Amino acid sequence: MKISRQFTVFGSAIFCVVVFSLYLMLDHLQLDRIKNPINEERLQNGQLVILQDKIDHLERLLAENNKIIANIRDSVTNLRKSVNNDKGPLEAKNLSQGLVDLLPFAPIWVLIPSEDCQFSMLDVYDMLSFDNPDGGVWKQGFDISYEENEWDQEPLQVVVVPHSHNDPGWLKTFDDYYRDQTQHILNNMVVKLHEDERRKMIWSEISYFSKWWNNIDIQKKDAVKKLIERGQLEMATGGWVMPDEANTHYFALIDQLLEGHQWLERNLGVKPKTAWAVDPFGHSPTQAYLFKQAGLSNMLIQRVHYSIKKHFATQKTLEFFWRQNWDQESSTDILCHMMPFYSYDVPHTCGPDPKICCQFDFKRLPGGRISCPWRIPPQVITSDNVQQRAHMLLDQYRKKSKLFMSKVVLAPLGDDFRYTDAQEWDQQFNNYQKLFDYMNSHPELNVQAQFGTISDYFEILRKVTGMDQAGMNKGVSPFPVLSGDFFTYADRDDHYWSGYFTSRPFYKRMDRMLESHLRAAEILYSLTLANIKMFGKPSNYPAVENYKLLTEARRNLGLFQHHDAITGTGKDWVVVDYGTRLFHSILNLKRVIVSSAHWLVLDDKNIYTYDPAKPLLQIDEVQPAQDVLPHKTVIKISATPRSVVVYNPIEQARSSVISIYVTTPHIRVLTAQGRPVIAQITAVWEHFTQASTEVFQVSFVAHFRVAIPQETVPVSVENPHLQLFENGLKHSIKVDFVWYGTTSNKDKSGAYLFLPDGEAKKYSPSRPPVIRVTKGPVFSEVTTTFTHITHTLRLYNIQGVDGQAVEICNTVDIRGEFNQEIAMRITSDINSMNRFFTDLNGFQVQPRRTMSKLPLQANFYPMTSMAYLEDSNRRLTLLTAQSLGAASLKSGQLEVIMDRRLNQDDNRGLGQGVLDNKITANSFRLLLEPRNSAQENNAPFSYPSLLSHISCTYLNHPLIQMATSVDPALLTPVPHSPLTSSFPCDIHLVNLRTIQSQEEGGGPSEQAALILHRKGFDCGFSSRNTGLLCSTTRGKVILFRQSYNTFTPVSLSLMYESSSTPKHQEISLKPMEICTYRIQLG
Ligand SMILES: [Zn+2]
Repeated sequence: MKISRQFTVFGSAIFCVVVFSLYLMLDHLQLDRIKNPINEERLQNGQLVILQDKIDHLERLLAENNKIIANIRDSVTNLRKSVNNDKGPLEAKNLSQGLVDLLPFAPIWVLIPSEDCQFSMLDVYDMLSFDNPDGGVWKQGFDISYEENEWDQEPLQVVVVPHSHNDPGWLKTFDDYYRDQTQHILNNMVVKLHEDERRKMIWSEISYFSKWWNNIDIQKKDAVKKLIERGQLEMATGGWVMPDEANTHYFALIDQLLEGHQWLERNLGVKPKTAWAVDPFGHSPTQAYLFKQAGLSNMLIQRVHYSIKKHFATQKTLEFFWRQNWDQESSTDILCHMMPFYSYDVPHTCGPDPKICCQFDFKRLPGGRISCPWRIPPQVITSDNVQQRAHMLLDQYRKKSKLFMSKVVLAPLGDDFRYTDAQEWDQQFNNYQKLFDYMNSHPELNVQAQFGTISDYFEILRKVTGMDQAGMNKGVSPFPVLSGDFFTYADRDDHYWSGYFTSRPFYKRMDRMLESHLRAAEILYSLTLANIKMFGKPSNYPAVENYKLLTEARRNLGLFQHHDAITGTGKDWVVVDYGTRLFHSILNLKRVIVSSAHWLVLDDKNIYTYDPAKPLLQIDEVQPAQDVLPHKTVIKISATPRSVVVYNPIEQARSSVISIYVTTPHIRVLTAQGRPVIAQITAVWEHFTQASTEVFQVSFVAHFRVAIPQETVPVSVENPHLQLFENGLKHSIKVDFVWYGTTSNKDKSGAYLFLPDGEAKKYSPSRPPVIRVTKGPVFSEVTTTFTHITHTLRLYNIQGVDGQAVEICNTVDIRGEFNQEIAMRITSDINSMNRFFTDLNGFQVQPRRTMSKLPLQANFYPMTSMAYLEDSNRRLTLLTAQSLGAASLKSGQLEVIMDRRLNQDDNRGLGQGVLDNKITANSFRLLLEPRNSAQENNAPFSYPSLLSHISCTYLNHPLIQMATSVDPALLTPVPHSPLTSSFPCDIHLVNLRTIQSQEEGGGPSEQAALILHRKGFDCGFSSRNTGLLCSTTRGKVILFRQSYNTFTPVSLSLMYESSSTPKHQEISLKPMEICTYRIQLG
């Protein structure tokens, strides 16, 4: 398969398409069905299934997973031998040409300079004793006292920040919240802030704000702009939502931030300075890094384990510079304020005593709909009580101030969906203004109190501590530097929020599918626009229509990153609303992909026609409804051959297996150049034991090749990785399933909380499992069907990255259970002791330590893309295609919760259990890697291997297969590749996202945001014979040919242009760095 480069769009993109044809093998080809070893194999396998004695035999095999792997290995080896011995004439023909295809790459040394490994680390977040003594009025803290004269020299400055926390979906859908609450909040805001210039407000959810903006008239828009100009209204963070930080992947985190920031720039000309995250259930340094890269200077977090808050309060380190683990200097530092108390509501923000603070939430005045649970109501402030009330409130402010280094105190004033009606605005703002006026007019109190925005607070803080406003700590900062993360969150007692790491896993998987479709569509769309521009003539490619679909998909994905969406903590009907949005966007993105691919694969662009009713290409996977797993379409094979176009959406050369459903087992697969490809025919199962007689699966390897440095080494027939498994893993790895129940205590597991009834119980199905074994030249697999799980282990016989790992697919159905959680447990002989590693947002790895002083549920952590165990010699990595909760409760053990079904609410406001389970597919890959040399790694940081990075990319960005709807004789698609070479192994193209034009209507502009990430990796693992088809280049990337040099480095979300222009076409990324460039398309 020679890759055509005649349609190169710009020097180095990532798009690559190959074309295959499927031919029906007619009788006159002298196919002898009985002599076909593959068919024979299939028949034998079918017999295996139905024979009870064989099942019993295989059941014993199943008990020891390693034996199954050995079984597959042997089968593959045997099959290899039989293939070598050769059968019928057709097979021989396929073999002689096909083997070259199957094993195209000689083992190669990948060049990796040692400088690329010098990643340095910082101290990791230090853990505590985690006791929970009663702290008095501040239950989880301690008594705070002060001297009256402490503010004599420097008065206390109080910044009260009015805010309203608007969840874009939770108990109501996004649209219902908007209709019932949010629009009224924003409408009243315009009126009420204009009444008094001293009033302030912050807003952070652009999803809501943009919807409102579209519904208001020009006068109101002007009034809003005036409020922003005067500094009365601040857009904090400016993301589409306030995202979850545990389950979210950095692709989606960046995308929702970019979408919000782009909207703000276009409509308001605003650049947010400070991030505001009061509700996500634990906090990730990835988010801090992204804010920093976007050009924000400050951030605020709230939901942190109560013991950590208390410790930081004791040390006065609630304000700190948050630095990334790998950062050797201070370039990633961002000033962070951690709120000290239990919640972001008014009772927990004015000071340590909620009974007092509640009396200063004037929405709770007697006669209102809500009151104070501490049973002392607020009082309207009058001239009679103002002195007493002001002293009471000041006492709380002073006590709160004692937990911080500076004499500036932040007091957020708000709650969920606050300031909905005019009366509430008056109640809060008028009463507070009276209190401020009193305090400020009594110099002996040494206080200056005022409303402010969150950036006002940081501005004052930076001023009084002698720092500059720009964001960097210039050596005068009194604040400590901290690195690490804030998982797993507990708000009280043993109530750890590790349940939501897995809740509603069906949609966590669907989120990742939308992400991969969105990325694939964005890139293809941008390349098509560039290609059309080069073509020069007008075309009826639906550029504007597709851009609308992309925008909608970005926003639906953005919405789902919300901390009650991807977390699985919304009401059932809200989950359906999100699911429907994800579902529609996946459908729409397929339209963008096929209409763009159609353009690119045409030899003669003049014949391009766009007809959505009759697309040339059709993606071969269909999801029938928002709550059902996708299935493959069946390609009808007749005397006329069918063409299949395959799109590799990643920036690397790649060899991966394509599986297609066809109507006949008599099939031949040819490349676009007419060369035959080895194909494996396997049964499609209608039921556990019933193979279809009408549909068959054909699998073959697609190679996306670019220039690859190769040494001439004899090709080995043996798959070296199966060998590796024999040597490295024999009798050492076991996969089991286990159940967790929920505690018998009053508080039980729910959507947020994991409160198990002790250690897991072994899964023992009521009936014996059905086991199917499939063997072939392309892949071999064992599928075991239990009552609740269909568990497939698959090995690809490819000398590429896919051949390195065992693929695991679990289809889980626990709809018949109650208060049960099902987990997969992988047991190995790796001496990991209490150490393991989980990633954060697919961006970085955080070392973990399983601690016996903590309850079981506290030892679960979010796993977005991988978790691994290691000892001095080996590392076992589990890569995942969906976010789930993971733990390592024993040395050598890795455990993943796959689904949870819970009858009851867990008292965090949701008001329901989790009983809307679906049949859910979880996909993983398991990778075992030997270290180059034994190493004891106790560093507070870790990196995945290069192989593990690339495997993860493969898993999360599968090839996209499209069948042509017309006779290839009439229209022959041609392969297309704008790539001149693979990107360096450690450089990932995060996105190539066409920027919206400034014009009304919002079609595409001629520019795109190119986002690159240089991944950090561990050099302790060999890159030899790992199937990697790339090298590393110390972070240097040659992006463009000479004619395409119009690109500008910008901040992550395009808010700022960099002053430094890169030399020529070469750019350089620091380890772990994510960079954005604004580029001209075409
Ligand atoms: Zn919330």
